Amino acid sequence: MKNSRSADSEVPTGERPYVVLLGSVGMDDTGIVGGKNASLGEMIRHLKELKIAVPDGFATTADAYRQFISENHLGRVIADHLRQWKRGRESLEQCGSTIRRAIGGGHVPENIRDEILDAYAQLRRKAGRQLSVAVRSSATAEDLPAASFAGQLETSLNVRGEEALLAAVRNCFASLFTDRAITYCDTQKIHHTKVAVSAGIQRMVRSDRAGSGVMFTIDTETGFPNVVLINAAWGLGEYVVQGVTDPDEYLVSKPPLGDKHFVPIIEKRRGRKEKKLVYGKGPKTTRAMVTSRRQRDSLVLADDEILILAHRAVAIERHYRRPMDIEWAKDGPTGKLFIVQARPETVQSRKTASALKSYAMKRKATPIVTGLAIGSAIAAGKVCRLKSAKEEARFPNGAVLVAEKTDPDWGPIMKRAAAIVTAHGGRTSHAAIVSREFGVPAVVGAGAAMRVLKDGMDVTVCCAQGDEGIVYEGRLPFTESDLITGTIPETRTKVMLNMADPAAALRWWRLPSDGIGLARMEFIIANHVKVHPMALAHFDSVTDPKVRRQILALTKGYKSKPDYFVERLAEGVGRLAASHYPKPVIVRMSDFKTNEYAKLIGGRQFEPDEPNPMIGWRGASRYYSDGYRDGFALECRAIRTVRERMGLTNVLIMIPFCRTLEEADLVLKEMARHGLRRGVRGLEVYVMCEIPSNVILARDFARRFDGFSIGSNDLTQLTLGVDRDSAALKHLFDEENPAVKDLIRSAISAAHRGGAHVGLCGQAPSDHPAFARFLAEAGIDAVSVTPDSFISVKTNIAAAEAATAPSFVPLF
Ligand code: PEP
Ligand code: MG
Repeated sequence: MKNSRSADSEVPTGERPYVVLLGSVGMDDTGIVGGKNASLGEMIRHLKELKIAVPDGFATTADAYRQFISENHLGRVIADHLRQWKRGRESLEQCGSTIRRAIGGGHVPENIRDEILDAYAQLRRKAGRQLSVAVRSSATAEDLPAASFAGQLETSLNVRGEEALLAAVRNCFASLFTDRAITYCDTQKIHHTKVAVSAGIQRMVRSDRAGSGVMFTIDTETGFPNVVLINAAWGLGEYVVQGVTDPDEYLVSKPPLGDKHFVPIIEKRRGRKEKKLVYGKGPKTTRAMVTSRRQRDSLVLADDEILILAHRAVAIERHYRRPMDIEWAKDGPTGKLFIVQARPETVQSRKTASALKSYAMKRKATPIVTGLAIGSAIAAGKVCRLKSAKEEARFPNGAVLVAEKTDPDWGPIMKRAAAIVTAHGGRTSHAAIVSREFGVPAVVGAGAAMRVLKDGMDVTVCCAQGDEGIVYEGRLPFTESDLITGTIPETRTKVMLNMADPAAALRWWRLPSDGIGLARMEFIIANHVKVHPMALAHFDSVTDPKVRRQILALTKGYKSKPDYFVERLAEGVGRLAASHYPKPVIVRMSDFKTNEYAKLIGGRQFEPDEPNPMIGWRGASRYYSDGYRDGFALECRAIRTVRERMGLTNVLIMIPFCRTLEEADLVLKEMARHGLRRGVRGLEVYVMCEIPSNVILARDFARRFDGFSIGSNDLTQLTLGVDRDSAALKHLFDEENPAVKDLIRSAISAAHRGGAHVGLCGQAPSDHPAFARFLAEAGIDAVSVTPDSFISVKTNIAAAEAATAPSFVPLF
């Protein structure tokens, strides 16, 4: 370490064995100051030029800890009590508290004390008498890639004055022997003599007067590497880490960050943030406070701050060359953003592609509790509701743990749980981090959990339905399948994905797909927006008081009702686009039928009753009509937001159910009015080929659009005259009927003759392997299938391609 100190070290600490400036250590010094402090030093030394601000400070060395232990003759005490505990003669609690008391009562040897107080005085000179410091423990065995020791040791915040500082350092040493740290070392087989603690003394950022949080340089649920996930709450950061509060959550797509014109924030979710941790008075250095209504109703960070943090996260990840878990804090008085910790992310980054498992509920059920989904698994078991980790003995293996929140004391219980449900906490709370580490599905921030879930109740915990974690009553059937991605063959035909729910989009990034072939906007509206666009564009004319109340509640905090629609829809589309950037993502404008639009909040008033909605006012016919034009304008604004503001230019537009050439012209004109002109800023516009007229006039349609996607669901319905939803006619609904196949073949060749790309996005190739083979043989350019069938479709198409010499030249 001595060699690695930088020349610009501000205090001549070269001769000092017990204290080093943070700015003089780096990642080679983990043996001396522990991973946490070494990482802070590394950033201070190397990332300053990148404007990454890390509060300065100093750290005690491992030698200081050892010297302290030896001068106070504590080695024997520690060894004796640990032995007694191991032999079952002392409880863990007894053993831990005796050792901690002994360390807390030890005296800090003169030379160590002098060095600490000297460095403290230097820091004070710079910061003024009001200096307040955080004292964080960093174990020398801490942050080893394989063991996250994270959160095992103690931190003292807002420490002021020499005596308080020395007490905090002793407390930091003692925290190596909390019950949970003793258990941790024991399970990780780390011998207590092999581990030392370094106390990091760092100038406090006044985040009690602003906010703070955690960020990850990958998506914590799926390991998707192209986003930064940021959590933010009011006050000091401990409440985010401990999961005491439900923080805001922001998701930023990394690739467009490089261009300063773009704002690639693809999600801003407001957390409840009921409490915050602020500075205390007297001996209680911090205290909890209820947040104000305004604080709860607003986001902690503004867009520009979210972007600054995302940029810093990417720079830190680049420096360490691995996914990182970072703590940040905002200084109230100056508004400046600081990084106060950075360590490697240890869960998702260790997973391999072969870990891709797929879970699905076998049938629909009514949720009894919901929160944030952690992981993507499903598990069932009996509820065991615990108030404190001390009730550990009561917890049966394989039960579903229900608790207010968890902290490291809960680790041993969580390990034995089938699933975990906590009333509080966000994606970076302790409960979330540890359940991911153990591979246990968890639902966090589930406010109603403690009230609704009763001891002994059978429940199924489902994290396989996107972002929302759901608890169902009873043990419900579900499937679990392995998706081994290592052996997927390559194909000439592009194989893309049909995606419905943006919340699930990031789950499938490991599949080697060629993009998204169909993103049905109506699903994004149903999942993400929930309100009929006309009811937002014309809120004043909404008559139903209940609907008005619902809309007012949902749109709270947005500039206007239409803005709510645009922002929410853009976030949903943006997430899908980000999940595959730069591969194409084909977003189809809304294609509900009138009966489905009517189910959206406020929809009833704007939708006619139709006897045959399937062949009624749907698709293109709505976009240029007076009854929906203003709603379509909002859809267009959302697409522009994604492409032009977020910078996700991989989004293509697709027009569904376009019956005639005249309709095609009208829709294209309408889109141009809203700033979406084919060919401008690289915009491509596709049309669904799903009505026989689309096939018959394919050459003319091809002149108006960049490509086709065959909708085999509607094409089969309209070719055979079979209502696709009719149970009675189910046996007649057959995509493999020769008439349908003939039309598909014609569509493919006419499209190619017209120079247009042609794919297919109906359900058939996902369900019928022979159909996928037929399409490949017919020379289709792309097929788009549901993610769970991707591998089998890819395999089938590869076999078909191997069996047929290409009788066509793919256009794209
Ligand atoms: C189709 O018709 O095949 C299609 C993909 O569209 P939707 O099922 O949404 O009508
Ligand atoms: Mg269709």
